[in-house]
Amino acid sequence: MSEIRVRFAPSPTGQLHVGGLRTALYNYLFAKKYDGTFILRIEDTDQNRLIPGAVENLIRTLDTMGVHHDEGVFIENGALAQKGEYGPYAQSERLPTYKEYAQKLIKSEKAYYCFCSISRLAALREEQNKNKLAPKYDKYCLRLSHEEIEERLAENEPYVIRLNVDENRGDIVFDDLIRGTVTIHARDVDDQVLMKSDGFPTYHLAVVVDDHLMQISHVIRGEEWISSTPKHILLHEALGFPLPKFAHIPLLLNPDKSKLSKRQGDVAVEDYLSKGYLKETLINFVALLGWNPGSGSTQEIFTIDELVEKFDLSSVHKAGAVFDLKKLDWMNTEYIKKLALDDLYERGLPFLSEKEFFKEWVGHQNILSEEEKMAFVKRVLKIEQDRLAKLSDIGENNPFFFTNVLSYDGALLNWKQNTAEETRKALESAQETLSLLSDTDWKGKEIVEKILMDKAGEKPARPEGGKGDFLWPLRVALTGVQHSPSPFDVAWVLGKEESLKRITDAIKKLS
Ligand code: GLU
Repeated sequence: MSEIRVRFAPSPTGQLHVGGLRTALYNYLFAKKYDGTFILRIEDTDQNRLIPGAVENLIRTLDTMGVHHDEGVFIENGALAQKGEYGPYAQSERLPTYKEYAQKLIKSEKAYYCFCSISRLAALREEQNKNKLAPKYDKYCLRLSHEEIEERLAENEPYVIRLNVDENRGDIVFDDLIRGTVTIHARDVDDQVLMKSDGFPTYHLAVVVDDHLMQISHVIRGEEWISSTPKHILLHEALGFPLPKFAHIPLLLNPDKSKLSKRQGDVAVEDYLSKGYLKETLINFVALLGWNPGSGSTQEIFTIDELVEKFDLSSVHKAGAVFDLKKLDWMNTEYIKKLALDDLYERGLPFLSEKEFFKEWVGHQNILSEEEKMAFVKRVLKIEQDRLAKLSDIGENNPFFFTNVLSYDGALLNWKQNTAEETRKALESAQETLSLLSDTDWKGKEIVEKILMDKAGEKPARPEGGKGDFLWPLRVALTGVQHSPSPFDVAWVLGKEESLKRITDAIKKLS
């Protein structure tokens, strides 16, 4: 295969969309797999849609996600910079090049000046609408004489330049690497505007000129662009450029199969990161939106290196891919489970630090050193780790870890039919058992568990009694709620002093 050169060519109109991340990722994976070059080109020719800071934001997000490009626009020392032999890589800096190619097309009569007013075009569209015809320019200005054109240009009349589509060209056929053979008749292709009246090229002209000049071998982009591809093919032909290969990746859908949109939830990669999805999860998740390794494989968890090894365009699906948030949560849980505790702490602390309950707890813990606080949070994480769907869930389901005074109804302490007196005995026995443990013993989660389980297993007061007689009041005393991690885990997290204090408080509630 000749050199692989692919590009991600976003328009900087906002944050990076999950669909954009997937397009970038597929390009990246394809380039890495075949030792190719991955280029980031900025398509900023639509001046009305530009958002300040969007380019920087986009580059930073791609970097955070580990989807690194080799050539194109970068951030260096805080400022935008370009690297590579085919630059500039921002289209707004390439205007003279597009003008030059537009003039070439005019000279070879593959394109023509059009002076039609907005009102004429609107009337034309209305007429076509009425007759149930597809909207299409009627080549009116193609009939203008050379002299008339010169005159109108000399008078600075506003104009656009249009592609002169030859209907006799017949079928335009291309082999999409994902969708197979695609055929569109030239008569169904509009005389597309190539240069706008503001002197900026349209997407169509810029993309074809740049893909050629930047020697792009494979155009891998979203399916929403497939209807533009015949226009691009005609333009490549008109300019005498060889064709790149095309691969259109499937649309992203909401669970109701409508096109994924902001209205149905978040679409920006940053939103998912700020909700506590790991970057590794997001990469893995978007890779599987429209691709799997095929041949009966059920593997769902892939590192980025495994993706490079296994990804291929030939196994990208044609059908739209549903963006399933439940699957995303499942996958994130799997990734969080695998994090080393210190790593989970590093990544989770910023999320926890945002929570009001945590801020309050920290405020009350002046007696604890920074190290003790860190050790406490790590114990919480150890208990919660396997069930976290998102980093922002840390502490949410177990607020009693970060509460100094529990408020609950004392009656909740009684297990089944047990009386307050029986509950008191159980709590006193727990108190006694736990006070026997030294601070060193307390460091071992298993030791706390064993001693409490042994106690719970002792002969119950009544024949029908069981472990619950002992464990239930202890759980409620430590947490104030019915559902929580096991009382051993909670006691281990809280430590000796706090656990004994909570049991004492519970006993008081019984009187
Ligand atoms: N600028 C287009 C976008 O914003 C790129 C389409 C293409 O890759 O050709 O998605």
